[in-house]
Amino acid sequence: MQAVRERLTVAVRARSVSNPDHIQIRPASSTVRVVLPPELASARSDNQRSSWEWTYDHVFGGESSQEKIFDETVAPVVDAVLRGYNGTVLCFGQTGSGKTYTHTGSTSQFAQRGVAPRAIARVFSHAASQPQYETLVTASYLEIYNDTLVDLLTELPGPGPESLSLVDCESSTTVRGLRAVAVADEAAALEVLFTGERRRSVSCHQLNDRSSRGHAVFTLSMEFRSRVESSGRVTRAKLVFVDLAGSERLKKTQTSGCLRGESVYINQSLTHLDQVVVAAAVSRGP
Ligand code: ADP
Ligand code: MG
Repeated sequence: MQAVRERLTVAVRARSVSNPDHIQIRPASSTVRVVLPPELASARSDNQRSSWEWTYDHVFGGESSQEKIFDETVAPVVDAVLRGYNGTVLCFGQTGSGKTYTHTGSTSQFAQRGVAPRAIARVFSHAASQPQYETLVTASYLEIYNDTLVDLLTELPGPGPESLSLVDCESSTTVRGLRAVAVADEAAALEVLFTGERRRSVSCHQLNDRSSRGHAVFTLSMEFRSRVESSGRVTRAKLVFVDLAGSERLKKTQTSGCLRGESVYINQSLTHLDQVVVAAAVSRGP
């Protein structure tokens, strides 16, 4: 169980809730408790529960800073990648709940930057502290919009845009034709991240005036090669950030036309993701 816990951690980040008596965010015990209001609880028949509690690896309240979120949840993933393990950070939640804020953060305020730019800084400060290794980093940025693959980096200099296709290899799934841009330092990697961010599909609706309309996958691929050992051994690892488009209740977002069509694709793909997670959990066993 310990090994599984180390491989997969779940953190809940809650924004301030309007009814804290009934939705209790408890960082100290890493729990979220939901208590039915008395009028609803009394309407239920005997022996039916009126409260529920879930325990996670981390629970953060509305006051938690971007720095705290990164240090306690994502920094350990980055450090594992720097030791040669692949790592993925996936932001999941209802539209408007703060996924893109957590992933990218504010571009105008340094303190508000999200986990992806902080991870980039950590990767390159590690590389600078290890001059005995040559570190090569490439970045790619993919969007899945209305079930189609979009390369968000085609604006950058490089070969012309190619059509993208999914290729299933034995051990992994890759996107053929997706541009991978070599990034020599933190500034170059941030430039790639924000170039891709600007190209993402966003729209305004009732719950979010910059709602992501597609799932975004930002990948840093790394190679570490010793400059002192002659064995020529190369360690490769990938750090993947997935900023999902949020699940949307059409009644709440009040969307129609094209936006409504996008919502249907978003919800459908999240349902498929849910099925994959359940199947993976079942195949792995307790
Ligand atoms: P999502 O990506 O989940 O749909 P966003 O990240 O776009 O939602 O967040 C919606 C709005 O709320 C944005 O204007 C964002 O800056 C703001 N926001 C989200 N979470 C926070 C937070 N923890 N602190 C301050 N502002 C936040
Ligand atoms: Mg978003």
